[in-house]
Amino acid sequence: MKRVVIVGVGFGGLRAARALAGQGMEVMLLDRQNYHLFQPLLYQVATAGLEQESIAYPIRAMVRRWEGVHFRLAEVCGADLANRRLFIAGGTIDYDYLVLAAGSVTNFFGLASIERHARDLKMLGHAVELRNQILGSFERAARETDPAKRRALLTFVIVGGGPTGVEFAGAMAELARFVLAKDYPELRVSEPRIILAEATDRLLAALPEELQRYALEKLKRMGVEVLLDTRVTAAEPERVMLHDGTAIPAHTLFWSAGVRAAPLADALPVPRTSGGRIPVAADLTLAEHPEVFVIGDLAYVEQGGVPLPMVAPVAMQQGDYAGRAILARHLGKPFPPFRFHDKGTMATIGRSAAVATVAGKNFSGYLAWLVWLGLHLYYLIGFRNRLFVLLNWAYYYLFYERQVRLITREGEGGSCQ
Ligand SMILES: Cc1cc2nc3c(=O)[nH]c(=O)nc-3n(C[C@H](O)[C@H](O)[C@H](O)COP(=O)(O)OP(=O)(O)OC[C@H]3O[C@@H](n4cnc5c(N)ncnc54)[C@H](O)[C@@H]3O)c2cc1C
Repeated sequence: MKRVVIVGVGFGGLRAARALAGQGMEVMLLDRQNYHLFQPLLYQVATAGLEQESIAYPIRAMVRRWEGVHFRLAEVCGADLANRRLFIAGGTIDYDYLVLAAGSVTNFFGLASIERHARDLKMLGHAVELRNQILGSFERAARETDPAKRRALLTFVIVGGGPTGVEFAGAMAELARFVLAKDYPELRVSEPRIILAEATDRLLAALPEELQRYALEKLKRMGVEVLLDTRVTAAEPERVMLHDGTAIPAHTLFWSAGVRAAPLADALPVPRTSGGRIPVAADLTLAEHPEVFVIGDLAYVEQGGVPLPMVAPVAMQQGDYAGRAILARHLGKPFPPFRFHDKGTMATIGRSAAVATVAGKNFSGYLAWLVWLGLHLYYLIGFRNRLFVLLNWAYYYLFYERQVRLITREGEGGSCQ
């Protein structure tokens, strides 16, 4: 029986596995995590809106009903493509077909001080650390008597005006204004500062101008200070430096200014583009190795002269495609090149406020927000997760409460030693 090995059970790898299940092939899934993570909702874990468990799903629970599909928890370290062999921590695995779907990591663009001091959101643990940092800062500010120090503790700088930065800024503003304002009577509602810095002259560059303007105005009305044409160039534990020499006293810096391909790409004997992505042919395979598919954030492929973006719909469609292409090849049938069908883009800003462009039409406000809610629930994996997320959202909508205001980091209350 031919063996297909899939590296990474994110949006792309999962779809490839589903397409191959029960088709008479052995499918081996490898991931260094034992769960599939719904990354678009990480920011809601970081801002105390959702429990971490509700945006992750155990891979074994998912694949146990899929005939011929097996999972192994393993970090993949490299590959000998000529001999169709993968190197994993502590061993090797041979394959007939390989699907590389290892995703991406945060890109700090070589800014070492920022990498040292900033928080990012790529893994579940990052979201919990960020939540601890935010809630811990409020606790420290509540007992701080020096107004300047208190102000720095309550200043949150977010870098990157893409969907993650915008969504995080909106959620952060609501957390401070609606929820924490009630928890901390010793702080003034106007004290927390949420600053969103974007290097270009606009937010949400992938969306039409009308929606960019809506997002900008909405965030400003929510109290977010939006700094356009502003680059964050360095950071210290209690200060963030801008390109024009301005220093913003702030204890929390959240970096969402870019991603690059997962480090696995650097360990493979293949060419890479800027951002470390692996260029693939129109059928998503490596030029010298038609048995190796690269999909999702890891792959670089252009359509109409423009690179496909590193977003979930691209990864999902490429995963489906890779699975079906492998089956076709296995049966000796021809298969057309990959084509991405763009169904739209969206981002939420806050309560009853989102922007979306679907089938060439622009939506903003309540309707776009409902669509955003519905689609995220639909794509979440597992009935329990959907139910818990829906309950959390409804509870917050009705009572302005975010239930997960837990600091799980030791030592926030000081030490007696
Ligand atoms: C905070 C955040 C918000 C986002 N919001 C949106 C959004 O609103 N809409 C949208 O469309 N996209 C969004 N994205 C992007 C989207 O999540 C990615 O484009 C998508 O996850 C890419 O899918 P993938 O299958 O390529 O990789 P991933 O889903 O990242 O999966 C990669 C998998 O590979 C595993 N892996 C990596 N390296 C190894 C290794 N060496 N060995 C074993 N396993 C490995 C990882 O553990 C992971 O499970 C967001 C991303 C982030 C981080």
